[in-house]
Amino acid sequence: MRGFFTRFAIAASGFALAVSHPVSAQDHAQAGWSLAIHGGAGTIARDSMTPEEDAAHRAALQAALDAGAKVLAEGGSALDAIEAAILIMEDEPRFNAGKGAVYTWDATHELDASIMDGRTRDAGAVAGVTTVRNPILLARKVMTDSPHVMLSGKGAETFAAEQGIELVPPSYFDTEFRLKALERMKAKQLSALDVDVKFGTVGAVALDKHGNMAAGTSTGGMTGKRWGRVGDAPIIGAGTYADDRACAVSATGWGEFFIRVGVARSICALMEYEDQSAQAASDAVMDDVKALGGDGGVIVVSPSGEAVFSFNTAGMYRGRATSAGINEVAIYGDE
Ligand code: ASP
Repeated sequence: MRGFFTRFAIAASGFALAVSHPVSAQDHAQAGWSLAIHGGAGTIARDSMTPEEDAAHRAALQAALDAGAKVLAEGGSALDAIEAAILIMEDEPRFNAGKGAVYTWDATHELDASIMDGRTRDAGAVAGVTTVRNPILLARKVMTDSPHVMLSGKGAETFAAEQGIELVPPSYFDTEFRLKALERMKAKQLSALDVDVKFGTVGAVALDKHGNMAAGTSTGGMTGKRWGRVGDAPIIGAGTYADDRACAVSATGWGEFFIRVGVARSICALMEYEDQSAQAASDAVMDDVKALGGDGGVIVVSPSGEAVFSFNTAGMYRGRATSAGINEVAIYGDE
């Protein structure tokens, strides 16, 4: 265990010098708030995006950011803020979550989502649901109204119906653009792991005025996935983690690598046990993902209100807002 953290500390030491040192857990009684969102990472380059699509993505990110920021500015909880932001992105067909989710090999949709409350470390997740309009709402219900952390497939849908969660016909998730991506993948015999078929997952992390944090992630997974494949998004500790003592993290990218590295939990561990900044910890863990051959990105907030991004792809749809006046959305790596 010790060697594990020391290795990361050495890898991250170059970054650690450049950033402010995080305050300790006891010093967090403050009234500031902080929010970061993502809409997926991948081969998102300026020359592959029309000005209209660029503007539409920015507008969608801004709408999600504004919804979450409003909750936090009014003194609401981090959980409510991330839910508000993720709901908007799930309903926006441009992102690979909820409406607009990618297609499986069999041209269906299987949705995954998770949520975590940093105050109590309660967590909820769902995997492979096909009729739940907003999987993030079901993940939250699993957390608050079941004795479990993760439900999957038909059972998760039975639970959803019992809880009065909105169900839709599977065709609700269909979009022409995602179907074309599946057809392209099959025609070119691309691997489901090919980079350009796996972006658009959504996530949000927040620190509220009460010093509590939360994280959530929602996705359709990867285009052409088969055999009931489940990625990192619904895995607590891989795609999502929140702990008021350390951080809130949501990830996007090549899920198999994020599971193997335990990305979200590793970032929180470096911040908690090694006292690393959010940026240093995120960069170190993303370097580890890259060393194994994976790619993607993370959004992280710290107890002192930092809101940071780290990604090793060409771009990541992202945004952040804080009570200190930061309010920005971005897409490409060079902005
Ligand atoms: N991480 C997601 C998965 O592997 C995909 C993504 O973030 O784009 O299912």
